Order: sequence, then structure tokens, then C-alpha cells
Amino acid sequence: MRIYKGIHSLIGNTPLFEITKIPLPNKVRLFAKLEYFNPGGSVKDRLGQELLQDAINNGHISRKGTLIEPTAGNTGIGLALAAVGTDVTVIFVVPEKFSQEKQMLMRSLGAKVVNTRTEDGMLGAIAKTKDLLKEIPDSYSPSQFSNPANPDTYYKTLGPELVQELEGKIDVFVAGAGTGGTFMGTARYLKDTLASVKTSIVEPEGSILNGGDPGPHRTEGIGMEFLPPYMDTSYFDTIHTISDKEAFKYVLQLTKLEGLLVGSSSGAAFAAALKEAETAKPGSHIVTVFADSSERYLSAGIYEGAE
Ligand code: PMP
Repeated sequence: MRIYKGIHSLIGNTPLFEITKIPLPNKVRLFAKLEYFNPGGSVKDRLGQELLQDAINNGHISRKGTLIEPTAGNTGIGLALAAVGTDVTVIFVVPEKFSQEKQMLMRSLGAKVVNTRTEDGMLGAIAKTKDLLKEIPDSYSPSQFSNPANPDTYYKTLGPELVQELEGKIDVFVAGAGTGGTFMGTARYLKDTLASVKTSIVEPEGSILNGGDPGPHRTEGIGMEFLPPYMDTSYFDTIHTISDKEAFKYVLQLTKLEGLLVGSSSGAAFAAALKEAETAKPGSHIVTVFADSSERYLSAGIYEGAE
């Protein structure tokens, strides 16, 4: 039996879960990394840890400095968790529309939250962050939307975990993209390591990857308004654009049939994985990422109106 000391030792090495109750075509085996088993409840705990270390080790702030980051929530929770037990102050700039639960968790972990207008999107939050950086001394923004440490986190952690757990037998990797760090880092690791693997990126309607205009969507945590510099579109073997309706339908199915309490980005990832399963060779191994939990979205009505 292992005794864990320090919350940071619980980040990563999340369970890999095989879908067995929801019927799958082509005798496909579908696996999901249950990232909501991380101690802050999402895939972004991995990133928070890395960004804090990166900021201190590279001298961007002192050990008593301030990190300021525009975030839809989960990266904030990951960063706030990483800062627990340190003297670093964290401030998050969050568009109002994002889940109240996430904002409450960030505050409870000791962070300050500054809200920006929903209509201004993530670009509005990024602009506000720039203003705060000028006002506050010894401050730095890890800038998850441009920092190569973002994809590198997943190249170093999630990618190797998947290859080890599935003994390299991965035919298709499917993941949603918000900043794109999870997809890009993992996809790059898999293509560098395995002889042949298809990497499939997932977005909600209202995201730009399939050539659409940016617009509102209810699926939280994924969707791109612009392409961050570390994204390499040659890794987009397929792009799946999933409607909110479909994402929420699968959230309910995953909950009722598999007992998986997942958030809407996981519903979208699963919808895309099923589309891959329909065209996959019989017996293929498809792996995806369930980034966070439905408990984070109860007041936003994640289980309402989806039946
Ligand atoms: N799902 C959820 C719920 C998230 O919060 C995020 C992070 N924005 C993602 C998926 C996508 O992760 P990434 O930013 O690495 O693309």
C-alpha cells in the first residue's frame, strides 16, 4: 500500500477505463483516461503543476511573486492547487459565463478571481490580464495559450502513460481542444513513439477548426477562437465538430450506462470517438480523454434537458 504525502503527488497516473456497457461498432475497444481522478478534478492539474514550476525555475517570478492567468476554470484550479503551500499569489481572469463551481473552487484554494464580460470571450480575458501585469510588480502570466510548456506537459505525462498502459496498441487518439495543449502534446508523443496512429481533434460547434466562425456553445472547456502558435495542423488527421446537443446526450449515457460522472467536453470527446469507431478497422483500439466531472456543472444544468 502506498501512502501519499503532499497533494501534488496525486497528480497524473489517472485510471484508464474501458467502455463496455455502451454498444460499439466494429468490435472496437474504446478506452478513456479518467482525468477527473486528479486531485483538483481535471486534466489541467498536470498543467498547473508544470506552469508554476516553469515560472519559478525560469526566474519569471520570485517565490513570493504573482501569477495572473486568463482561464476558463480548470487551468485555474490546477494552478491554484499547485500554489497551495507556497507563497505565490494567483489571480485568474475568467469570463463571467464560466461555471460558478469552478470559480468557487479557485477562490477556495486561495486564488483571486477577476471576471470579464462574456461577450468579450477569452480574448477579453487575455486583454485584462495584460492590464493587470502592468499594474502588479513581480507578476507573470504563464500564458497557457502560447506557452510551449502547455503541450510539453502532456508530451511528458499523458502520452507516456497511454503508451505504457496500452502497451503501444493505440490506433486512434481522440481529444478535445480548448488551448489545444492536451491534444497537441499527446498527439505529438504518440506519433513520435508509435509506428502508426491516427490523431483526431474535437471541437464544439462555435469553434474555428473546421472553418466555422467563433460563437457561443454550452460545451465547456473546449472550443477555439484562434489557433495557438504551438498547434500544428498536420496532426489533425480528422477534425470532429460536435453539437452541444450531442455532447450532452452522451454525458447522460456515460453517466447512466457506465456510471461515469463526466463533464460536457467528455461527452463531445466520446461522440467523436464513436464516429471514429464507425470507420475504424475491426478490433481497433481507440483512446480518448475524459477531462473533468459533471459535478462541476450541476448548477449549469448539465443533466437537464438532455433526455
Ligand atoms: N475539457 C475541459 C473540461 C477543459 O477544462 C479543458 C481545458 N480548457 C479541455 C477539455 C481541453 O484541454 P486543452 O486546453 O489542453 O485543449
